[in-house]
Amino acid sequence: MPVLGEIKNLKIGDELHACPACGYEYGFHTSFLTIQAGKGSPVKSTRDVCSVILICPECGARFDVGWRVSFSGLDARVIRTTGTQLTTL
Ligand SMILES: [Zn+2]
Repeated sequence: MPVLGEIKNLKIGDELHACPACGYEYGFHTSFLTIQAGKGSPVKSTRDVCSVILICPECGARFDVGWRVSFSGLDARVIRTTGTQLTTL
């Protein structure tokens, strides 16, 4: 098992399937990294926001392609509106 490498920023072109570090061509593993809020970070609140990190299964190189995902709880799916209901069914 390779040692995990430093996370590098990576821009996706038309397709991303080959590791820029070693040339491995069969895609990546993924992992999720909790984003730390604070100085130097654009993230104001870390509430359940993670970076999706690609890991090369061959050499262990890690890449941040800018994907951010939120793992909010089920409650977050409930949208409360303050607007007035226009029609009554
Ligand atoms: Zn690689």
